[in-house]
Amino acid sequence: MPEPTIPPLGDLAPDAESAEVVGALIDSVDRLGAGLDARAIDAAHALPEGLLSRLAELGLFGLSLPEEHGGFGFSLWECASVTAALARHDRSVATTVGLHLGLGTRGLVAFGSPEQHARWVPPLASGEMIAAFAATEPGAGSDLGAIATRAVETDGMFRVDGSKIFVTNGGLAGLFTIAASTPGLGGARRGQGLLLLHVDDPGVEVGAEEVKLGLRGSSTTSLSLDGVVVPRDRLLGEPGKGAAHLSHVLAWGRSLMAAGCCGTGHAALDAMQRHCASRVQFHRPIEKLPVVAAQLADARALLFSMEALVRHTAADPEALPTRSLAAKVHCSEGAWELADRAVQLHGGSGYIEETGVALLLRDARITRIFEGANDVLRVHMGLLATMGVPRQDLAPLGSLGLAADALAAEVDRVAADLKRRKGARLGGAHVELHALGSLVALVSSVDAAVLRAAHEQTSEARNLAVRWLDQATARCLAPLRALSPDRVGIQSVPTELHP
Ligand SMILES: Cc1cc2nc3c(=O)[nH]c(=O)nc-3n(C[C@H](O)[C@H](O)[C@H](O)COP(=O)(O)OP(=O)(O)OC[C@H]3O[C@@H](n4cnc5c(N)ncnc54)[C@H](O)[C@@H]3O)c2cc1C
Repeated sequence: MPEPTIPPLGDLAPDAESAEVVGALIDSVDRLGAGLDARAIDAAHALPEGLLSRLAELGLFGLSLPEEHGGFGFSLWECASVTAALARHDRSVATTVGLHLGLGTRGLVAFGSPEQHARWVPPLASGEMIAAFAATEPGAGSDLGAIATRAVETDGMFRVDGSKIFVTNGGLAGLFTIAASTPGLGGARRGQGLLLLHVDDPGVEVGAEEVKLGLRGSSTTSLSLDGVVVPRDRLLGEPGKGAAHLSHVLAWGRSLMAAGCCGTGHAALDAMQRHCASRVQFHRPIEKLPVVAAQLADARALLFSMEALVRHTAADPEALPTRSLAAKVHCSEGAWELADRAVQLHGGSGYIEETGVALLLRDARITRIFEGANDVLRVHMGLLATMGVPRQDLAPLGSLGLAADALAAEVDRVAADLKRRKGARLGGAHVELHALGSLVALVSSVDAAVLRAAHEQTSEARNLAVRWLDQATARCLAPLRALSPDRVGIQSVPTELHP
């Protein structure tokens, strides 16, 4: 692997102690990763024999779990750094570990009782037991309010019935955190709850492995729950508060997923830089061609902003619910764009599987869909923006900070304008909220890039932040246009154009 041109996520640690611990772990991950054959994993549709044990020996399954029960007790930031490092080698492996650390165990760690921790954390931290998370159902994907799996309490026991689909780690997991409708529980008439189910609980049945476009080494199955009766202590957190717990778990999961996208972005950048330095056309390495050179510089700036945003997100638990939305959207779109750029700059060879960049593209595709489809999250971010999400004033950082403030002020202005124009109909203005959400993700990425440049204090970092600010400003034009009150709305398109 060539020298990285920008420091990977693990090099951006918030303090020296964290840097040392994470750095040592990432070195181990890199040694293990050097022996991984991503294309072989893809072809086998499974992880190699013995790999889970080697990951467990490194302690990777315990990173986010409490120290008193055998975990590392790492912060979100530290877990994100290791996930990104793994993803740089193989996205299926990173997804297996990242899902365990995020969606799979976060509910237990954050909302579990001391007894639940004592019972479940030790085998999860050692990697003896793998965790999965099951919210999606045939009738409930983007709309998790439609979850039909029911957990009904009688005589101190829950009876759980329902069907889950697309469960990552489904074929490996010993423990599932499931989201279920819990009518009446905790006084919430239509509440939801998170429950722990063990793979051996009678009535739990894991389906066959799905055949996927990418992430083929990562297990994905359905999960059938047929009259599963479990004690009340399988409920996580407060009765009736499941929706709030779910939102916290998703915020963690999305942040780790965004970190994985940074790993994919790095792998794509490594590949494109390597290729462009060696491929000669027009009597010189193609990296010297002006258009290619500009595209490589843009790719570096995009990756710089992605890593900055993950760091910014993970560093502030208060802002996690909102920032994780922007991080998920920005980093998954960024990973896709970087993988696509890598394919393009490889020319015809990029389309051939042997080169390896086609795999990056296939693996990256799902990240724009799972853990919340990006278009759904944009609408959500747009709505939050009309409620006025607080933002740090960056003016003290100088001209770059002022430019970021100006962009953010423009987004605030259109958000306020949209709110005023739509009034009580705002919640239904999905097209406009979607455009606003796109702006929020871009502004968040600019803020993070500017803060990162200020923190790193190098001319390279400043140049990357300036370049990203330019790109992001250009990308804001289309959504700003969509939000302009005098735009040609869909309603004014001649009806004969509609099918
Ligand atoms: C490989 C893989 C792994 C997964 N792992 C897990 C897992 O571990 N646990 C789990 O619970 N789930 C998992 N999922 C499920 C995943 O999170 C869902 O597929 C995703 O949330 C989208 O739901 P859906 O597929 O039902 O799409 P739908 O909800 O049917 O949406 C389809 C498309 O319609 C559009 N759309 C829908 N609603 C809106 C809206 N309001 N505004 C704008 N556009 C909209 C979007 O483009 C969306 O992509 C996984 C899926 C896959 C493929």
